[in-house]
Amino acid sequence: MNLSEIKELYGNYVLNTYFKQDLCLVKGRGAKVEDSEGKKYLDFFPGWAVSGIGHCHPLVVKRVKEQLSKIMHVSNNFYSELQPLLAKKIIEYSFPGRVFFANSGAEANEGAIKLARKYGSASGRYEIITMEKSFHGRTMAAISATGQDKVKHGFEPLLEGFKHVPFNDINAVLQAVTPKTVAVMVEPIQGEGGINVPDKEYMKALSAICKEKDLLLILDEVQTCMGRTGEMFAYRLFDVEPAAITLAKSLGGGMPIGALVVAERFKDVLVPGNHASTFGGSPIVCSAALAVFEAIENEGLLENTRSMGEYLREKLEKIKKKTGLISKVKGHGLMVGVELNMEDGGPLAVKCLGGGLLINCTQKNILRIMPPMNVGKKDIDKAMKILQKAMESTQ
Ligand SMILES: *Cc1c(COP(=O)(O)O)cnc(C)c1O
Repeated sequence: MNLSEIKELYGNYVLNTYFKQDLCLVKGRGAKVEDSEGKKYLDFFPGWAVSGIGHCHPLVVKRVKEQLSKIMHVSNNFYSELQPLLAKKIIEYSFPGRVFFANSGAEANEGAIKLARKYGSASGRYEIITMEKSFHGRTMAAISATGQDKVKHGFEPLLEGFKHVPFNDINAVLQAVTPKTVAVMVEPIQGEGGINVPDKEYMKALSAICKEKDLLLILDEVQTCMGRTGEMFAYRLFDVEPAAITLAKSLGGGMPIGALVVAERFKDVLVPGNHASTFGGSPIVCSAALAVFEAIENEGLLENTRSMGEYLREKLEKIKKKTGLISKVKGHGLMVGVELNMEDGGPLAVKCLGGGLLINCTQKNILRIMPPMNVGKKDIDKAMKILQKAMESTQ
């Protein structure tokens, strides 16, 4: 099929809920993808950060294929082998506790919200403080939690009990706490909100306030997890003690999996019958996620993410000097935001696409660049040339 045939099928049969680029991707390997017309691209925003270790990582493909021929789905009313092994792996990289498996980021956050509500139910507390410009997903609870009006409009009445405060402002949190508050939910680095990195003092103070006031500190790591920032989980960049973290996106290396990781102290809040998912933690997605951990370990991808992240940001600083179109380069590891000196960066991202580079533009003027964790200097050089050229032709 060519692109116009594919677009016609979409038009006739798929609900139109996405803004789309004029591009149909049919193949991917590492940082490279190919479209339906045979054109190749460097993918520096692979699957919205889902293919964090690159498209079709050979180890993920191998492990999933092996598992496919054994058993694809096991009901959570039976034991299965890979789910506890994956939970063990996640716990080893985070903190003592327990893991609940879901299928997406929004679902992982739903679980965290239910955990907080259940914990607060004994003392009549249910309010959750979240941040302006946050993004927590598209279910009703997740859009209620999200601090951006654009995701809520038309869906009111929303779920009660969410209060939004400015990000990185500890006094705003203190003022928002009431006798009904039970939790604070925050992304360790805001993704969709524009790659906003909070101050270390802020995160430390937030953690201390939560401890003092018996609030659950819930960290939404759906985008930052699995090494994206150079740490397996981004909360480790800060001096914090989360009650729970939520994971999804790159956890499955391309397979749909989400997880709620609950600290030891809260492990008995949810009990049998309280929460469930039919597909959650199936053998297939667990085999993929275990392979992602294995690849990160065997290939030194945390180290590579740190060094390539630095290299990428240096390159961007040079482009900043040369073009004058960049006001700020921000982020951690390979989670990089480029704040532009222009109102709308959308056309620039489209120009990059034309030049063979896929990146994202969020909050109107922030380019989001998140190459796979195994990216090398050669591909970064190539990508930065395409970006610089696109910028120069914009001036
Ligand atoms: C993408 C994202 C979500 C939602 O994940 P889905 O899998 O689309 O439900 C939630 N939180 C953050 C921080 C995200 O980046």
